[in-house]
Amino acid sequence: MEKENKKGLDPDFNDILPEEEYIEEQKPRPIWQTLLLTGVAIMVILGLLWLSGGRQAFFYRKTPPIKEKELQSILEAEKIVVPLNIIVFRNTGNLGSQRDAANIVLLVENASRIWAQADITLSIRVVYSIETSDETISQFFKTPSLLAKDIPQFDRTSFNLFLVRSLGGINGIAFSGIKSLAVADFTTVYDFRATAHEIGHLLSLSHTDESINRLMFRGANGMELTEGEVMAAYAFALELFGK
Ligand SMILES: [Zn+2]
Repeated sequence: MEKENKKGLDPDFNDILPEEEYIEEQKPRPIWQTLLLTGVAIMVILGLLWLSGGRQAFFYRKTPPIKEKELQSILEAEKIVVPLNIIVFRNTGNLGSQRDAANIVLLVENASRIWAQADITLSIRVVYSIETSDETISQFFKTPSLLAKDIPQFDRTSFNLFLVRSLGGINGIAFSGIKSLAVADFTTVYDFRATAHEIGHLLSLSHTDESINRLMFRGANGMELTEGEVMAAYAFALELFGK
């Protein structure tokens, strides 16, 4: 009976403390102790959720269909079009992308609005969907330069944008050697910002730690390019895609 009453007073810890605790305890638990134990229990539960893959649910999201505002040109130079050959790896497993055509167009348009500050326009050349297994997708990202040549849709005259559901915890990645980038469906920053950031790498830019507002800052939503970055990227794009 005593045990039942204690349980009734303190229902949160029925599953955590051994039964004996309730029987032996004489006085009611002080409130500070209850709060402390509640805090510990919440942290343990959050930790377990994090470890069991809840991490994705907490921080990795699909970007909502927002329209990014076009950034002001810094150089006021003639526009260069950077063609994108888009390859969407699809399946119903864990790695196949679920993006539809409208979502892909929005992704590229928003990334292009960021690159407007360097007078660079991203333009979709073609979108291919490739049905393939999770195993093939993860193998591809381990050795992209070896496997790209086996993909008939791969285009050496464009930047190749690979779209997948997940990249094992990163938002995007650039493979400069094969002029390619990959972006996940679920990202911790806006997907178009991740795309624009990786395009920055393909256009010769490196990371900066100077300000979170910068496009080349890691893992944030900054979109600014410096005049130096704009000039370097523009010159690189001109070399690759200028007429
Ligand atoms: Zn980067």
